[in-house]
Formats: sequence, C-alpha cells, structure tokens
Amino acid sequence: MIREELNGLFKLQEIESRREALEQAIKNHSVEDYMHKLRKIINNLEKTLKEKNKRIIFLKNQLRHTEQKLQESYDMVKQMENRIYSGEVTTIKELNILKEKQDATRGKVEKYEEKALEIMEELENLNIDLPQEKEIAIKKKKEYNEKQLKTRQEIDKIKDELSMIIKQKQELETGISPELLDKYRRIKKFKREPVASVLDGKCSGCMMEVSVMIALEVERHEGLIYCENCGRILV
Ligand SMILES: [Zn+2]
Repeated sequence: MIREELNGLFKLQEIESRREALEQAIKNHSVEDYMHKLRKIINNLEKTLKEKNKRIIFLKNQLRHTEQKLQESYDMVKQMENRIYSGEVTTIKELNILKEKQDATRGKVEKYEEKALEIMEELENLNIDLPQEKEIAIKKKKEYNEKQLKTRQEIDKIKDELSMIIKQKQELETGISPELLDKYRRIKKFKREPVASVLDGKCSGCMMEVSVMIALEVERHEGLIYCENCGRILV
C-alpha cells in the first residue's frame, strides 16, 4: 500500500511541477514585451499614415482651388488683352488703367502658379514614401495578428492541459492518505519538490549520498523514509 501511495505522491509532484510551469507560461504570454512593442510601432505607423492621408486630401483640395483661381486670373488677363486690342478703349487714361489692372492680375497669375507648384511638390514628396509605409504597416499588422492568434492557440492548449492536470491531480490525491499528503504539503512549503528518489545511492533532491541502511529501507517500502540530509520523502 505504501509503495503505491508513494508512487502516487511522486506522480503528484510531477503533475504539480508541470502545472506550475504551465501557469508560468500563461503569465509569460500575457506580458510579452515584443507584442507591446509591435503594437506601438503599428499604432505610430497608422497615425502617421492617417495624418499624411489627411494632408494629401487637404492639399488636393487646395490645388484644385488654386488651379481654379489661376484659370480665372489667366482668363481675366486674356479678356483685358482682348479689350486693349479691340479698339473699344479710346483714351490713354482708360488704357493705362486697364494695363495696370492687367499687370496686377498677371501678378496674381504668378502667385497662383507658384502656390500650385509648391502644393504639387509637397504632394509628390508625401507620395514618395507612402506606398512603402502602407506596405510596412500592413506587414506589421499581419505579423501582429498571426502572433496573437498563435499565442491564443498556445494559451488555449495550455489551459486544456491544465484542466486535465487538475483532474489527474484530484484522482491521484484520492489514492494517497491525508496524513501523507499533509506531510508532502508541509515539506513543499520549503522545497519545491518534496519527493526524491535514490539514484546511484544519492538523493535526487540534494544529491547527497544516503546511507546503505536508508537505501535498503527505501527499497523495502515498508514505511516513510526521509533523506537524512534534506528531509525529502524518498521513494
Ligand atoms: Zn536529500
């Protein structure tokens, strides 16, 4: 009976170690630094892209507006030129006024041309890196989503194993006497693995040699034997 119980206790220890490792794995997944950094990069990229797109829309509107103004001014210059050469202007004074107006409008044409060029230049600059930046953002997002999915799947798998382990643990515990379980728990407070085996005459917990007498007693499995050095239960 004690042999079976001790074997059960050893299995229980294995299961508990596995459980601790699995719980740690879940914790590690939730604080993954890499994912946080990646999310930050994506957010920044998306913000930049959004701002750039907004600026592009604004500039395109402005360009349309400027080109319209340019066309209007240009038409006005033409109209004034037609009037000047049409012969309908008869006095020098009238002609001078008209020429002055024409010069002023020509100045406007120049101003609008300059402005349109400036806008086109900025648009061109904005559009140079845009496709590449979009591609990077898409790639990073894909990477993030894939990694997140993989992490979720891994966590699900761990949780499945955990619930299986908890069940196994409960089953194992029913085959071990409460007194023995209590002793196990008490040692566990100080030692992560309270049960050790004797391997080549040494305790697997502290690696110290056990006396021949102890080794023999462990083999006989007639009662509870503790390591003389570390106090672990020997099986
Ligand atoms: Zn020991």
